[in-house]
Amino acid sequence: SAGRVVVVGGGFGGAACARALKRADARLLVTLIEPNKTYISCPFSNEVIAGLREIDAQQFGYDRLGAAGITVVAQAATAIDAQKRRVTTGDGTEFGYDRLVLSPGIDFHLDALPGYDEAASETMPHAWNAGAQTLLLRRQLEAMPDGGTVAIAIPANPSRCPPAPYERAGLIAHYLKTKKPRSKVLILDAKDTFSLQRLFEQAWKELYGDMIERVALSQGGRVTSIDAATRTIVTEFGNYTPDVANVIPPRAGRIAGVAGVADATGWCPIDPVTFESKLVKNVHVIGDACLGGGIPKSASAASAQGKAGASAIVSLLAGSTPEAPRLTGVCYSTVAPGYGFSLAGNYQPRGDIFAEVEGGATSPVDAPRELRAREAAEAERWFQTITAETFG
Ligand code: FAD
Repeated sequence: SAGRVVVVGGGFGGAACARALKRADARLLVTLIEPNKTYISCPFSNEVIAGLREIDAQQFGYDRLGAAGITVVAQAATAIDAQKRRVTTGDGTEFGYDRLVLSPGIDFHLDALPGYDEAASETMPHAWNAGAQTLLLRRQLEAMPDGGTVAIAIPANPSRCPPAPYERAGLIAHYLKTKKPRSKVLILDAKDTFSLQRLFEQAWKELYGDMIERVALSQGGRVTSIDAATRTIVTEFGNYTPDVANVIPPRAGRIAGVAGVADATGWCPIDPVTFESKLVKNVHVIGDACLGGGIPKSASAASAQGKAGASAIVSLLAGSTPEAPRLTGVCYSTVAPGYGFSLAGNYQPRGDIFAEVEGGATSPVDAPRELRAREAAEAERWFQTITAETFG
C-alpha cells in the first residue's frame, strides 16, 4: 500500500478527509474510527429546535464511505500511542498508522463552567452537539407556557460556529412569535460584539420587535456558574431563572487531550500548511478541534480542512513538500423561514494560524427581502451539497 492513515471522527472534517484521501490515492489504507453509526448534523439543527424540521433530515450513515473502500470502524478511539503510532478503540482493537488524523469536534470539559456538567445538560441543554440535546431543547420550548423566558447563554470565542447561537435566538423567536407570542428570548453573552451583528440585530428588530433581549459582556452578560438544581444561571451582573435555559459551554474534543495534542486552552495548535500537530508528530488535527485563528469553526471550514489535510498527507507520505492551502468557508444563518444571510471567507496560513485573505463577502445590511429569501434557499442547497459530498 501507499501508506496507512487512520482518521478519528466521522463528522464534516473527518469524513471529508477520509474520502479525499481515498480519492487522491486508491492504494492508501484508510480507516475511519467513529462510534456512531449515524451522524447527526448540527447545521440546520436550529430549525429542528424551532419545530421547522424533523431530526431525520439531519441524519447520515457511513455506507457510502465503506463502498468507497474506507474501512469504517464503529468504535470510539480511547488511546493513542504516538511513539508506536497506534490507536486503540473501546473494544481493545489496535490500529497502526503512518499518519493519524483527528477530527473529534467538541466535547465537554467539566471544569469549563462551574456547576455545568453532563447531568446539568439534561435539564439545561446545550444542544451544541445535535441529536438528543436538540430534541430535548425543542420539547422544553413546546412545554413552556406562553409568557415564559428562554435564556441562551453564549460562550466567548473561539467556539463552534460563532453565528449559530444568534441564528438559534432568531429561530426560537420565530417559534415563540407563532405559538407563544408573549414570551421572550434573553441572550446572556460572554462577548461584546459578534459575527454578523448588524445583520442579526436588524433582522431581529424587523421580524420580532423587542422579543429578543441581549445582555452583552460589558453589561455583565458573561455566565460565571450554573445551579442546575434551581435552574439558575449566574452572571457577572446577577442571577436568572428562565423557564428554558439553553447553556452553551466553552469546550474542545476530549480525545485531543488524551492524544496530547491539545494545549492549555483545550484547543489544538497545528502547522496550518499540513495540519500536523505542533505537539505530537504524525498526528494531524482538523475541524473544530484545531486552533485555526481567523477561520471560523464551521462545517464548511472543517470540510475544507479535511480535504486540504488529505492532500498534505498524500504529499508527506510520498516524500514531497505540501503546498500551502487556500481554504474557503461559507456560513449561512437563517433567522426565520425564507430569511437568511451569509458570511463567506478565504483563508491562508500565516505563521501558526490561518488568516483571512481577500475575496470574502458578507451579505449587505440593507437589502431587500428577496435577497434574504434567496440566501435562505441557498443555505438549503449548501446543506444538500455538503452532506452529499461528505456522506452521500
Ligand atoms: P463534528 O462534525 O462534530 O464531528 C466529530 C465526530 O467525531 C463526531 O461524529 C464524534 O462522534 C466523533 N468523535 C469524537 N470523539 C471521538 C473518539 N474518541 N473516537 C472516534 N470518534 C470520535 N457549520 C456550518 O458550516 N454551517 C452551519 O450552518 C452551521 N450551523 C451550526 C449550528 C449549530 C447549532 C451548531 C452547534 C454548529 C453549527 N455549525 C455549522 C458548525 C458545525 O457543526 C461544526 O463546525 C462541524 O460539525 C465541525 O466538524 P468536525 O469534523 O470538527 O466535528
